[in-house]
Amino acid sequence: MATVGFIGLGNMGGPMAINLIKAGHQVKGFDLAAAAIATFTENGGNSVASASEAAQDVDFVITMLPAGAHVRSVYGSTDGIIATARAGTTFIDCSTIDVQSARDVAQSAADAGFDMVDAPVSGGVAGAAGATLTFMVGGTETGFTAAEPILSAMGKNIVHAGDAGNGQAAKICNNMILGISMIGVCEAFVLAEKLGLDHQKLFDISSTASGQCWSLTSYCPVPGPVETAPSNRDYQPGFSAAMMLKDLKLAQEAAQATSAPTPLGAQAAALYALFDAAGHAQTDFSGIIKFLRGEA
Ligand code: NAD
Repeated sequence: MATVGFIGLGNMGGPMAINLIKAGHQVKGFDLAAAAIATFTENGGNSVASASEAAQDVDFVITMLPAGAHVRSVYGSTDGIIATARAGTTFIDCSTIDVQSARDVAQSAADAGFDMVDAPVSGGVAGAAGATLTFMVGGTETGFTAAEPILSAMGKNIVHAGDAGNGQAAKICNNMILGISMIGVCEAFVLAEKLGLDHQKLFDISSTASGQCWSLTSYCPVPGPVETAPSNRDYQPGFSAAMMLKDLKLAQEAAQATSAPTPLGAQAAALYALFDAAGHAQTDFSGIIKFLRGEA
């Protein structure tokens, strides 16, 4: 069994760290928020006083932080964890951050002699609690091989996407597809309503025709056809519109940095920004159908 320092014990990191404990690993946890630490210790975790302390004398350090700036600061400031970890520690950053920050921090770790992978997740809070997350991993073959057994205590699918930063690249490309396709499905239902076509009829036809996609068949934005979809719970997330906007903005940042043409990605980001600004940041992202109907 491994020793792990876990930094960032929030909605995702908290249950992920607890799953590592359940799998028999020794986990030292740190978070800036007292409530996050309390939940961790109530579930058998050993809390420590700083990120540096969490990173000392462990086989793995896992970070699950809000954004690139947090990751850069935790790894790279003068008393950052790259400076305090022992030789042989593998760093795993599971946060969703911009590709460039992921590559820069991995390079700093490599310069200091450490393996580091970026391993953002999909599956949300339910996947974190149930240890069913998908990990999209960027880094060297050695880093991936080291990280895989520990990631398998927290998730089901662990995919090596290529070099450093490619986990983040996979995550933002996937979520750009998701944001665009959800808006497409919502627009089709709104048009169907105007044309007098029943929701269930459109679902039955399109779910087996060329309009088929995950946003329709697994996460239908109108209540009825898919029982587990947030549309049946008044659009309680799920995956919040704020999270979708964050990922679409990261995709746009990357598109601008690389001159990739992503006009629909840009449009999706603009629509989710309006939806958020209208007070729906904490609504499930499929709730954008209300906005398209003029109801939000
Ligand atoms: P969260 O805000 O609940 O948790 C982040 C935690 O990091 C907080 O508890 C915060 O106190 C802590 N933190 C911030 N700076 C810190 C520092 N310097 N040292 C120690 N702790 C620090 O967020 P979350 O929902 O757990 O998301 C974490 C990451 O996972 C984000 O990058 C998010 O985009 C990604 N993600 C979230 C979901 C989801 O459904 N919530 C799904 C997939 C990916």
